[in-house]
Amino acid sequence: MSPKAPITQDVMTIPRKLPEGKINLVGLTRDQLREVLIEHGTPEKQAKMRTGQIWQWIYQWGVRDFAEMTNLAKAYRAQLAESFVIEIPEVVTRQVSEDGTRKYLCRIAGGHEVEVVYIPEEDRGTLCISSQVGCTLTCSFCHTGTQKLVRNLTAAEIVGQVMMARDDLEEWPVPGAPKDETRLLSNIVLMGMGEPLYNFENVRDAMKIAMDPEGISLSRRRITLSTSGVVPEIARTAEEIGCLLAISFHATTDETRDVLVPINKRWNIEELLQALASYPKASNSERITFEYVMLDGVNDSDKDAHRLIDHIKRHNIPAKINLIPFNEWPGAPYKRSSNNRIRAFANIIYQAGYASPIRKTRGEDIMAACGQLKSATERARKSRKQIEAEAGLHD
Ligand code: SAH
Ligand code: SF4
Repeated sequence: MSPKAPITQDVMTIPRKLPEGKINLVGLTRDQLREVLIEHGTPEKQAKMRTGQIWQWIYQWGVRDFAEMTNLAKAYRAQLAESFVIEIPEVVTRQVSEDGTRKYLCRIAGGHEVEVVYIPEEDRGTLCISSQVGCTLTCSFCHTGTQKLVRNLTAAEIVGQVMMARDDLEEWPVPGAPKDETRLLSNIVLMGMGEPLYNFENVRDAMKIAMDPEGISLSRRRITLSTSGVVPEIARTAEEIGCLLAISFHATTDETRDVLVPINKRWNIEELLQALASYPKASNSERITFEYVMLDGVNDSDKDAHRLIDHIKRHNIPAKINLIPFNEWPGAPYKRSSNNRIRAFANIIYQAGYASPIRKTRGEDIMAACGQLKSATERARKSRKQIEAEAGLHD
């Protein structure tokens, strides 16, 4: 194994069997679904057809109860209910921001919690989902980075976030009703908690399900995966997922990026740019998004803007640059660049021929903005400890 192989061994797999001994069908690929159906008594000859039917009930109609699967025989439905469940993360709290942004706190197996954010806009609605509880990386400006990784999410928990949001938005189609083409949940961004490319297989399987035409059916161009730069997994993202790519670039010299995005010490700017230049799906219509958080006096000079353009031009990468005003969190070691500075920086990039939108800060009042998410698991753990200490349970 090369010394630069990606760290995926942190994965703690959750057994597919649930405590009651039942298997969750959510998150299984079509092949896996077919396999478990056969293992639990579905005749092999029927398995393909049953897989298709059950798949549609789960992902096209949002059904969670086998009893509602009316095109299956009653006895077969009962048989399914004995072995399987259709389970998604449970919503613990839901907060709605002044601007309509919704933040959900969801509970997953093991008592952990993840945050999911829904951002409505005029012409679309974006769901920002998480791929891990916490993060192994320690980007110095990111709140999630201050929390140690608790575990990788399963494919069920990842696609389950999308299903949960569709429940809340009441967006499952009603059989027989005319098809509504304007979707409340039209886009997915993997920009919540965690580094998606350190949980590659589960993220891939979940996104394949979200794209499946006989289900949630979101186009791959409406899904954006954001990575801090796990170079060996970038080509695989294009091949096996095919979604759009965003890169947390954030600095224009290795010296600064080593501090802001420490994975840079493993794969530096040049290696990252080379991987991006050969991202097979990269074309003008599918540009790579460079995310750039604006930190006062750290990475926001005119020189930085020129260096950024130079990097992108030198490698001939079809790109747009998304400038993100830094969102503060309690104890954060940085300040947001001034609006004037951000505008000047954006202007240099724009003049060089690249789109340079400034990301609108959404849901800040409910701590739902980029980089503000942090699992309540850790907070809960701390407060439980405190409670125990107060109750004299520890000496
Ligand atoms: N781990 C992945 C995806 C999650 S972070 C990644 O790093 O790309 C989603 C985006 O929010 C990233 O670009 C990240 O750098 C940015 N971000 C993190 N903390 C932030 C903060 N406090 N303010 C603004 N953006 C932040
Ligand atoms: Fe992890 Fe992304 Fe935050 Fe870095 S910016 S600590 S990779 S979630």
